[in-house]
Amino acid sequence: MSLLAESKRVAAEFEYVDDDVRKAVVEFIDEMNEGLEKNATLMSQIPTYVTAVPNGTEKGLYLAVDLGGTNFRVCSIQLHGDTTFSLTQSKVAIPKELMEAKTATELFSFLAKQIEIFLKTHHEDHFEKHIKRRMTASTPEGYRNLEYFKLGFTFSFPVHQVGINRGTLIRWTKGFNIADAVGQDVCVMLQREIDLLKLPVTVAALVNDTVGTLMARSYTSPGKTGTLLGAIFGTGTNGAYVEKLSKITKPMDGHFDESTGDMVVNTEWGSFDNNLKVLPNTPYDAILDKDSVNPGIQMFEKRISGMFLGEILRIALVEMVKKPEIPLFSDVNSSSNDYHSTTTIAESAALYKQWGVDSSILSIAEADNSVGLRVLRQEIEKSLGVSAPSIEDAQAVKEIAHAIGKRAARLAGVAIGAIVLQTGRLGSLTVQPPKPSSEIVSDIKSLHLQDAAAATVNKLADAALPLTGAPVSEDDVIDIGVDGSLVEFYPGFEDYMREALRAMEGIGAAGERRIRIGIAKDGSGVGAALIALVAARME
Ligand code: ADP
Repeated sequence: MSLLAESKRVAAEFEYVDDDVRKAVVEFIDEMNEGLEKNATLMSQIPTYVTAVPNGTEKGLYLAVDLGGTNFRVCSIQLHGDTTFSLTQSKVAIPKELMEAKTATELFSFLAKQIEIFLKTHHEDHFEKHIKRRMTASTPEGYRNLEYFKLGFTFSFPVHQVGINRGTLIRWTKGFNIADAVGQDVCVMLQREIDLLKLPVTVAALVNDTVGTLMARSYTSPGKTGTLLGAIFGTGTNGAYVEKLSKITKPMDGHFDESTGDMVVNTEWGSFDNNLKVLPNTPYDAILDKDSVNPGIQMFEKRISGMFLGEILRIALVEMVKKPEIPLFSDVNSSSNDYHSTTTIAESAALYKQWGVDSSILSIAEADNSVGLRVLRQEIEKSLGVSAPSIEDAQAVKEIAHAIGKRAARLAGVAIGAIVLQTGRLGSLTVQPPKPSSEIVSDIKSLHLQDAAAATVNKLADAALPLTGAPVSEDDVIDIGVDGSLVEFYPGFEDYMREALRAMEGIGAAGERRIRIGIAKDGSGVGAALIALVAARME
């Protein structure tokens, strides 16, 4: 079999047709509802105790800290109340010994110290004023009048959240291991160390990064309808959306303001359909899962996110290389390489290493449309460790990478579409009189990614042109905030998501046009600040 035919055959295994999309949406909605009704389901549907999203008029100075891996970030965010903000930030690496400290106090006192350094460096005025007032405040009223910074704490480890600023650590991940912290409230531990340093700071909110994305987008979003969903397509994938309180029927431990009738729910959709009822499962997906540290878990994430797409591609290519009759990365095509030299793969090549291939090669493959695929061939040398690949080799990589990326985006569309349908936001439509087609183009342009990738915007607007019909009124826009390298950098990720949305019953072309998807920048900082603000209002 020729290399071209074989690469087309492998690519076809990743095809995810409209009918599959529709079936997955039905299952996704089922699993969402199951998660709202009871605990220990596939999708956790965690209530966040955040009961409203911002509308861009919020004001004030807030602090945010982020402990999620190798670094600790401290920032202050000035919300200007007009959908804009200013952000000051510092970042420090967590010393290795503190990641495995004997006691949690060692780590948390280090974190509090960083907050103190940040305040002294960037907010000296506020800090000094606080110290003076504290010294003169002798009555309880005097103390209450002291100006405290409200702080949002983004903590990206598994926690059991029992209130907007309450949550106990379930277990450490990502190289942290401090036994006595497990089961303890991380906000209490941070507050205790902050108080020991007598800092004017209150830990007001415990923040999940997906919820931060939703809040940040809702604040900065051009429309004032409030963002429905915040979604991350980066190393992992997850989403948080605004759900009706009445639909969350499982027990909730914490106190919250019921007046809005809504609550933000963290779906933990990475584990959608772990039983593989509807998800596609190629032999390459099966190999990835079997050899992973958590087989059978995060099955949706394993088909969508940046951590896994490079590995799926690597496995598919290795399976092809194993077949002697398939001339991939073999010398047969070497006359079509620039060097006319032998195509070779070293034994130590990244191609043969588990997790050896970064997902960014998918974006490079997708973007290279030159005749000789020179950029992609260079990337194959660099990141797969194959020397002097031929044009045919690069065409095969491109074909398969495209199929993997397109499937990921269509699956991402399933999550977005299911949430739009679950929340019933498409229910009402304001009818607008028809506009001349030139105005439609500019409308469509303004409806897409506001701040990122102007080139993509134009492409999207052009792609959307054949869709006729009345333009969308601002009142009918369903706003969605996204973050993560995959959605930001993979060419056409949004186009393919939209293709899937159009295929869904209950959405179709008319519904898809009402969905505005925009990048949420600095989600963890601004989002955490906004949740601290919401929490302070609840007091
Ligand atoms: P995180 O999710 O950890 O906050 P990112 O959103 O930057 O960070 O996502 C990092 C992931 O995205 C990595 O798995 C990386 O392989 C992948 N990635 C980075 N750049 C690209 C790209 N240009 N195209 C596709 N995937 C990418």
